[in-house]
Amino acid sequence: MRHDTRRHARTPIPLVFVLAAMVALPSAVLGSVAGPAGPPHQEQETVRVVTTLPTYAAIAREITGDLARVEAIARGDEDPHFVTPRPSFARAISRADLFVTTGLDLEVWVPGLLDRANNPRVLEGAPGHVVAYSGVRLLDVPETTSRAEGDIHIYGNPHVHTDPVNAVQIARNILEGLRRVDPDNAAGYERRTRDFEDRILARTFGDRMIDLLGRESLLELALNGRFWSFVEGREIDGRPLVDQLGGWLAEAAPFRGRSLACYHKNWSYFSHRFRIPCAIYVEEKPGVPPTPGQVGRVITFLRDQELPVLLAANYFSRGQVNRVAERTGGVAVIVPEHVGGAEGVDTYFDLVDLWVSRLAEAYSGSGGAR
Ligand SMILES: [Zn+2]
Repeated sequence: MRHDTRRHARTPIPLVFVLAAMVALPSAVLGSVAGPAGPPHQEQETVRVVTTLPTYAAIAREITGDLARVEAIARGDEDPHFVTPRPSFARAISRADLFVTTGLDLEVWVPGLLDRANNPRVLEGAPGHVVAYSGVRLLDVPETTSRAEGDIHIYGNPHVHTDPVNAVQIARNILEGLRRVDPDNAAGYERRTRDFEDRILARTFGDRMIDLLGRESLLELALNGRFWSFVEGREIDGRPLVDQLGGWLAEAAPFRGRSLACYHKNWSYFSHRFRIPCAIYVEEKPGVPPTPGQVGRVITFLRDQELPVLLAANYFSRGQVNRVAERTGGVAVIVPEHVGGAEGVDTYFDLVDLWVSRLAEAYSGSGGAR
């Protein structure tokens, strides 16, 4: 499988990132963690889970309940590509039983932190290391892996959590890690993971679709990228099967197929699941600051749309996103990419609720930047 070969073909972090990390982390400020700090592992009452991104922490909490202490390093309104490491991050990892990271080139700030944390239990390949993207069908995989033009998605799109079905796969990966480091509580983790999967399926597709296709068949179709090709063209009781959708996909049905402009390539998985294509990007290449020429092309594109919508994560310049939208008479939808990135976005369900409802508002003509 493609993701497995990529996982093992990881290239070293380029010098430019190493140097950037050294600048960001003067050793006099950061110091180093001389060994696993805090109480010895066997005295801990609960398992400690540390995740790079708060959405992984939210998914981990769904699985662990009160069986583990879960904390995230990055904030939900922070650009996950560019998190400034702090000494407290290395200390948290030094005490972790389980460490969850995307596993592609999203968090270039992680290898340095793992070095400083000096916790062999959570290093890559150790039982306490979880790669969140494992088993996810990657999108936007480039022909060649090169950062020569500044691209920061060289192994494929790393923003995998924006498809709620991928949240199921992420949960399963975290479950595997928890089984390894805390086998005594495996049954509880398994029960809660299944419950999370059920709630994701119901919220994404609706109960009726689960009844019609069956839980396992629906999951299989969704995880393998065959859901839309399966439901399209099929009928039930003389009506298109796709009309039986509920949940988020039904809420997004009024604007399914509408092209929008996006700031960064962080919505690919969301677009793919909901069939709302990002037709053009303000950042021509992920991570490369927009040029005036590209901004002009985005404006031209938006002016051609009946309802121009520009979707951006809330860690980009709000002013710039709003100015582009205003020049086209369109709507800027500025939302957090991660759990915790805005008030009231405390769970994974809150996050997707917000994305879908804000887009629905924009396409009904009542939405706007906030
Ligand atoms: Zn990105």
